[in-house]
Amino acid sequence: MCNEHSPSVGRKGLSRRTFVERAAIGAVAASALPLARASATGSPVEADTSHGHGRPRRIDGHNSHYPSNREPLVPSAYVPLPLGSVRPAGWLRSQLVGWAEGMTGRLDEVWPDVGPNNGWLGGDGDVWERGPYWLDGMLPLAHLLQDPRLLEKANHWVDATLDSSQPDGYFGPSGEVAQRKTRRAVAGEDWWPKMVMLKVLQSHCEATGDERVLDLMTNYFRYQLRELPARPLGEYTWWGKQRGGENLSSVHWLYNRTGDAFLLDLGEILNQQTERWAGRDTYDPGRWHVVNTAMGVKQPGVWYAQSGNPDDLAAVDALIHWLTVTHGQPQGIWSGDEELHGTDPRQGVETCAVVEYMFSLEQLLAIAGDLRHAEILERVAYSALPAALSPAYGGRHYFQRPNQVACTLGPRSFTVRHEDDTLIGLETGYGCCTANLHQGWPKFVQHLWYATPDDGLAALVYGPCEVTAKVGNGAEIRLVEETDYPFDETIRITVRGASGTRFPLHLHIPSWAEGASISVAGQRLAPPEAGTVTRIERAWNDGDVVVLRLTMTVRASRWHENSAALSLGPMLLALGRTEKWSTVSDRQVGPFEAYEVRTDEPWNYGIRQADLEDPAGAFEIVRRPVPEQPWAMPGAPGASSGGPPVEVRCVGRRVPEWMPYGQDSGPVPWSPIRNEGSDEKIVLVPYGSTKIRIAELPVTI
Ligand SMILES: [Zn+2]
Repeated sequence: MCNEHSPSVGRKGLSRRTFVERAAIGAVAASALPLARASATGSPVEADTSHGHGRPRRIDGHNSHYPSNREPLVPSAYVPLPLGSVRPAGWLRSQLVGWAEGMTGRLDEVWPDVGPNNGWLGGDGDVWERGPYWLDGMLPLAHLLQDPRLLEKANHWVDATLDSSQPDGYFGPSGEVAQRKTRRAVAGEDWWPKMVMLKVLQSHCEATGDERVLDLMTNYFRYQLRELPARPLGEYTWWGKQRGGENLSSVHWLYNRTGDAFLLDLGEILNQQTERWAGRDTYDPGRWHVVNTAMGVKQPGVWYAQSGNPDDLAAVDALIHWLTVTHGQPQGIWSGDEELHGTDPRQGVETCAVVEYMFSLEQLLAIAGDLRHAEILERVAYSALPAALSPAYGGRHYFQRPNQVACTLGPRSFTVRHEDDTLIGLETGYGCCTANLHQGWPKFVQHLWYATPDDGLAALVYGPCEVTAKVGNGAEIRLVEETDYPFDETIRITVRGASGTRFPLHLHIPSWAEGASISVAGQRLAPPEAGTVTRIERAWNDGDVVVLRLTMTVRASRWHENSAALSLGPMLLALGRTEKWSTVSDRQVGPFEAYEVRTDEPWNYGIRQADLEDPAGAFEIVRRPVPEQPWAMPGAPGASSGGPPVEVRCVGRRVPEWMPYGQDSGPVPWSPIRNEGSDEKIVLVPYGSTKIRIAELPVTI
């Protein structure tokens, strides 16, 4: 039943019709955009762009082949596929292999926090979040690559966790181990780390069909139902109360598989005991931890499935809007070092927040079908995520910054600061990100395709992969998605294993892709509208090819002090510099070295306003074959020769009054700024390929 509905029925409540009607009202509230309508070609190919930006498409809410929201939960717009349905290919597979051979696949061998002495394995080590965090990325990675070495490690942890289940339903570190305080004075009985391990167990269940997971979760949720009234989510730590949306999401996952009515009662309690994320729009220092925020932003959306109240979906919109306006940065997330810290591009964002926001968006996409979430997800995945990580697969930033001219030891103006927050290392800054970063790429791969309520498949974000799934009347087919996206515009999807198999294919056309085109089996469809989903329903045969071209132009948006950030397709661009990497020997962990990064080149360039107003001809896009490691500048450890696979050549001007401040750039001057300097050729590259960069450029006139 890990990947099937059970025949049992949920408790009586509002009828599904009532919920669907409420959902429809929510959809209208979420977007004022008009409904784009059908452009049928009259051929065997039928296509309609019937799903406007921000507008969930709801057909009947249940996919015939994969667990969908069970009554009385509100039907979701899309249905996540079980882990293992989507497999990485191309450059994306190379990234996953790199992490499997690097830090993800070796962390337990070099970092005692997740080593054999961990409290979750019965040892006297860490009993809190670090083991579950690592598993939440390592286990999906093991299954995506079918890597025997990693599968053995993952199964060892899963078996230990399943064996820890007690007759009263409790699971995890127990007895003396759980009672002992860790160095962070956190009891092992804390509700929070179990929320992460529940995600791990769900992934294991989906990938293997191991129904022991369903028993453990059922028993544990009965335990929570009994215990939470006296020991609420915030009993042990602040984190449990802040992050209760994760717990609620796991309760809904199980409910969709077993239909046990008590789970909805538990859902009510969890929602009551969780931080009120809906309606938060004032900045109170100390209350906006960036990782909590990245997780909490989805909480009203998760609760919407149970409440059916469109105000809960609208609350997600309002939260994202407020965060973007008050703390937003162009790599797709907000500053948070660890508190939210305004829009200045010299403030950092923690790597945990990057991967948690991605997971939140992946869940929100299924719940609400809001295409704006797909675009934010691609922006974060293809900008903030690679920027946070070592191209040699052995470390990460604690904080990354849009304007970052030195990653060096020394103090910075962060709310929580260590001397080494901007370095690339295994444990520089603080160790949470060391354990948590691993979920980033694997979870993204898992969500490159969703099942749809009309028994088809939907691509809402893109990347090289293959998906194997049941469609239509239950036939299993395979879609091979060949692309260098996001570095290139063309996505080629080949159908395999179909023989007159009728099902719909849903393809998202991002709002930036004006002029996009789609052809099916050699036949060109009517031009799709940007910011919609094109639905193509036909009888598919083996070898049918869909070619999607998502036109990428250089676009500008305005940020801190009216500076300009430039984008190409889903990626943020940045002025890259020649990077000088040097090791910091006392921060090396096992074979994984820590680095400072500097540049000798000037960085104080602006972009001309005339070029932003008339971009045609101002920006030359140059592409080359995607190298083994596209997310690195020449000279970085792990870099391929030749540099990033795409660059944008344009003109910039030095801004002499923009001076260094300490080890960093000074405050970015207000734009536009009058400038008599001479034009110089500059090169912009993917932000995610850089460690030294200027992504928010002053505008010169
Ligand atoms: Zn962290």
